[in-house]
Amino acid sequence: MSRTNANIRASIKTLIGNGTYNVGVPVVENEISKLAVSNEGQVIQKKIDVQARKIPFLNIRKDALTRNRDLLKIKSDSYYNQLSKEELTVELQKIHEEISDNIEEMRNQLKKYQRQRHWLLWHDHSTLANYGHMLFCLRELYDPAIHVTRQEMLDKIGKDIDVQATVEEPQLYILGQSRSTVEDQMRFIPTRQEDLRELKNPTVTESGIEVWDVMRFMNGDNPAGEMEDGTQHGGNYGCPGCDGNICSSHDMEYTLQRKYKTLEKKKELIQAGPAGRKGTLHPFKDMKINDLKRELQARGRSGEGKKEDLQKELSSMLGGTTRLPALLHKSDNWDTVTLTHLLN
Ligand SMILES: [Zn+2]
Repeated sequence: MSRTNANIRASIKTLIGNGTYNVGVPVVENEISKLAVSNEGQVIQKKIDVQARKIPFLNIRKDALTRNRDLLKIKSDSYYNQLSKEELTVELQKIHEEISDNIEEMRNQLKKYQRQRHWLLWHDHSTLANYGHMLFCLRELYDPAIHVTRQEMLDKIGKDIDVQATVEEPQLYILGQSRSTVEDQMRFIPTRQEDLRELKNPTVTESGIEVWDVMRFMNGDNPAGEMEDGTQHGGNYGCPGCDGNICSSHDMEYTLQRKYKTLEKKKELIQAGPAGRKGTLHPFKDMKINDLKRELQARGRSGEGKKEDLQKELSSMLGGTTRLPALLHKSDNWDTVTLTHLLN
């Protein structure tokens, strides 16, 4: 028997209702107007509610703790308390961490590393069913400090499991309609910031042990990286990692001397002048000559010359950095721990 649209819809509704499908929570509400053809054949402006849905990071963190239960080597406090200095040394060396003179310090260090997970965010913009969409996924990163190795798993259960691939399987985080513009993609930032603020609280295992999560990495294609760290999209200075000019990319001596710019450095660079401190999305766009002068003077330059030259001077100082890194927008009240993880 073929299924009609109506009963496909009804069965999806049931599966959402009983929890088989998780559709997350609505975020980023937005109204856009779009051209459409009416029943009478007229072109009309139609208002559409656009929104995104997200599976809160907290739920993803909790689920991963249960799902990967057998792949995590989280131990109780009593395990750490009975370790001798020699055993602590061996364990710390295994995960390439520093050895200290103080046994209590070593114990706390080992405990910290073995109860901490690192996460990576990936995102991309694409067209889906004729509409632009943003998709965000999260991945827990494999770390021998907290996850068992493939060999340990084989010894334990006699089954060869690709532990890293299992742990790092991408988890759907946010999906929503969005254009590829900076304005549209920035709409996802407040909800992402909200989740990151939650990281100051640990998730707790079934046996009551606290596990701390750290958001540490982001990957994606060039536009995604540029969006994330406030680099110009394309152009001569489009590298999200450094301030290299693409025209000199064939010059090995130049290329190899480029330093990696941290988000902290980018923040300082943007906020060194009055335009950048305003915190808008395009602080250095279409600047008048007097604005350029003020901006350059605030950055220790004379600010003298023709507009064209001043523009070039500012561009080369900024080296492609055009706005604050995405997560630092409107974020004065970041707690220092989360901020340190994000910036360095
Ligand atoms: Zn580069």
